[in-house]
Amino acid sequence: MKQRRGYGKEVLPKLQAYHVYKGHACGVGLSTRAMETTTMFAAPTDKCPVCFGNDLEPDFFLTLPTNQPGKWDRCRTCGLMFMNPRLLPDEMYKIYTKPEYWGAAYGNYFENEPLRLENSQSRLDLCAPYIPKSGRLLDLGCATGFFAAVASKNGFDVVGVDINPDMIEFGRRQYGIDLRAGRVEDCDFCPTSFDIVSMWGLDCHFFDFRATFEKIVGWLKPGGCLLFAYQDYGHWIRWFFPKIKQEPNVYYGLTRESFVRLMRQLGMQIVMQRTSVEVTQLNRIIANLKIGLRLPIIGQTKVRIITPSYLLVVARKEAPLN
Ligand SMILES: [Zn+2]
Repeated sequence: MKQRRGYGKEVLPKLQAYHVYKGHACGVGLSTRAMETTTMFAAPTDKCPVCFGNDLEPDFFLTLPTNQPGKWDRCRTCGLMFMNPRLLPDEMYKIYTKPEYWGAAYGNYFENEPLRLENSQSRLDLCAPYIPKSGRLLDLGCATGFFAAVASKNGFDVVGVDINPDMIEFGRRQYGIDLRAGRVEDCDFCPTSFDIVSMWGLDCHFFDFRATFEKIVGWLKPGGCLLFAYQDYGHWIRWFFPKIKQEPNVYYGLTRESFVRLMRQLGMQIVMQRTSVEVTQLNRIIANLKIGLRLPIIGQTKVRIITPSYLLVVARKEAPLN
């Protein structure tokens, strides 16, 4: 496949490739079912999208909500796990906008808003020594805008973006801040116009994550900070709970190694990386471990836990050399 250049290394071809894949499938006379499948997926890749190595192995398989089989690979070099081939964005969008997604993933979402506000303040406090004290903050994947609301209360001028219009509507009414419904990939903010970009639930949801991360970093001023959280897919906890992070809506799972490489490629310097402390419900922890257990009453108990495989990061955009 033809490669384009960037960062002095090979960069994978962009998304047009899926048209080729689709055309090829039609050309060899596959069944209607197989043709439907190919139109739902991008072309598979034989290279890791972070380190560009080709030492890949199948990692896990799941049936997607679209009833198609999904496959995820793992890069033996940097540890990145990624869907291969990837479900196309329109198909993924159908998963996200189903009410069952929010219900299954988050229970009664709005009921837990006070918990999220409390956790947002803790996160902001943990990041505070490393970030600007005021300025413009963009919260991507903001859901109801709970983190943006907390940041606004702490003196930041905030904008929030989320794909789910119901969440945005709730947040606008609840907090009266600038929240916008849409996909991050479609946003068109001015370059170098934000002091901080925060992303708390978007560690695995970008179809073309390199292009999207480049765009996001472009919105930051030089010296501006990315606040980010991700689940370390290479963490030892997965020896005990191997299904953590294995979800149909996960395009990729970062490891420490792959995340450091990605940040370096984007000109971002990691200035803080630490485990997080969260207040959550017992059932939420159990759901993440995927051991098929649900506790009816005691499961609603609130607990404060250290989340060993969930990392909180502050990365600073390097200022250009004069
Ligand atoms: Zn890799």
